[in-house]
Amino acid sequence: MRDFQPKTIIEPFRIRSVEPIHFTTAAQREAALAAAGYNPFLLRADDVLIDLLTDSGTGAMSSRQWAGMIASDESYAGASSFYRFEAAVRDITGFRHVIPAHQGRAAENILFTTIAKSGDVIPSNTHFDTTRAHVEHNGAEARDLVIPEARQPQLIHPFKGNMDIEALEQTIQTVGAERIPAIMLTVTNNSGGGQPVSMANVRAVSQIARRYGIPFYIDACRFAENAWFIKIREEGYADKQPIDIAREMFSYADGCTMSAKKDGMANIGGFLALNDDALAVHCRNLEILTEGFPTYGGMAGYDLEAIAQGLYEALDENYLRYRIRSIAYLGERLVAAGVPIIQPTGGHAVYLDARAMLPHIPPMQYPGWSLNNALYLLGGVRGVEIGTVMFGLQPDGSEQPARMDLVRLAFPRRTYAQSHVDYLAEVIIEVFAQRNSLPPYRIISQAPVLRHFTVQLEPIRN
Ligand SMILES: *Cc1c(COP(=O)(O)O)cnc(C)c1O
Repeated sequence: MRDFQPKTIIEPFRIRSVEPIHFTTAAQREAALAAAGYNPFLLRADDVLIDLLTDSGTGAMSSRQWAGMIASDESYAGASSFYRFEAAVRDITGFRHVIPAHQGRAAENILFTTIAKSGDVIPSNTHFDTTRAHVEHNGAEARDLVIPEARQPQLIHPFKGNMDIEALEQTIQTVGAERIPAIMLTVTNNSGGGQPVSMANVRAVSQIARRYGIPFYIDACRFAENAWFIKIREEGYADKQPIDIAREMFSYADGCTMSAKKDGMANIGGFLALNDDALAVHCRNLEILTEGFPTYGGMAGYDLEAIAQGLYEALDENYLRYRIRSIAYLGERLVAAGVPIIQPTGGHAVYLDARAMLPHIPPMQYPGWSLNNALYLLGGVRGVEIGTVMFGLQPDGSEQPARMDLVRLAFPRRTYAQSHVDYLAEVIIEVFAQRNSLPPYRIISQAPVLRHFTVQLEPIRN
């Protein structure tokens, strides 16, 4: 028969274990949100129909992961589960030393406590918030040097996560290499919309780092999604396997930090991996203090098993094609309906541009928050505001509009199917149709830092 290229990209799994989702009425959602102080973080998950709060630790595991978990070795020291985990990390990253940690920020804590001090500068494309917090906690400055194209939401660029190479070199010359203990690169660039970094850019950052003798670390949380974008968008990679693309990416670096709650396909876990023998000794000493013995590092044996298997599953082509396509598909439906989003869609989420959508709500009355709450009230969908509530409160207590007011709809891995995505598109497009009736909000009470987690608000109705 003739070869046939189907247009439909199907979920590359069948479902053997199901978890019911909970339907609510509009009146129940109104009551639940009011009881939560109009803060979706404070909702009970049972009151949410489709939960896109985060893609971190929320994915579905495979039967093979569960099989490994049942057969795990829970020995305190030298467990076989650790050696399987270590072998998988080494096989994919090529780094000599593998230091397990209970999640990504714990790996960051170990790395930055060991290498960063007051007066240092650590450049990145964009530091994720926990990365920035750990850099700053150690007295150093976290500097974001993403390419200028990344700051224009509607501008199409294949690798909007790239580091601005000129700005990096200028920074090194102004600051001095001796005050830069590491250069970081976040792949994909989470805080910049899940946008990928090209292999050419990874290589260029690596060359500069080596020229100045500065260690180069990858924040690898979404390394597999980044490998997929390189495969489909960068010349010369179309015929390569994602695992080989990932290996090449890591080959240019001296180490990485990883949250296994993302492309580790696990519910918890992470690691620090690096080549420097002396640094690894210091990191392991700190690990024993904060995480546990170096062959478990804050994880159970079954977590190590889930990650050892999950890292390979994240690199499966059929999985990556389905994942990236389902996000692009939602993006296409929204763009066709005129809904403003960050373009192109990234690896793990669709970002709605609330400031563009709701010009009648000024930034200081929280358009992103209003839009996110409307998605819940209308459709039981929970996203997260990434805007003025999250970033507007300054250390001196004053308030400023964030650079953008967005709602991020992050997709848990292997969790939702096509009909869920169609439903989402319908809900978002209906909220868009009713956008002029969305209320502004005011804050009633807030914490001095990271206020979005616990803030209480109310809609301003006239
Ligand atoms: C999630 C994340 C982290 C932190 O990982 P946790 O497991 O949440 O501690 C660090 N960097 C990036 C890019 C992330 O997405």
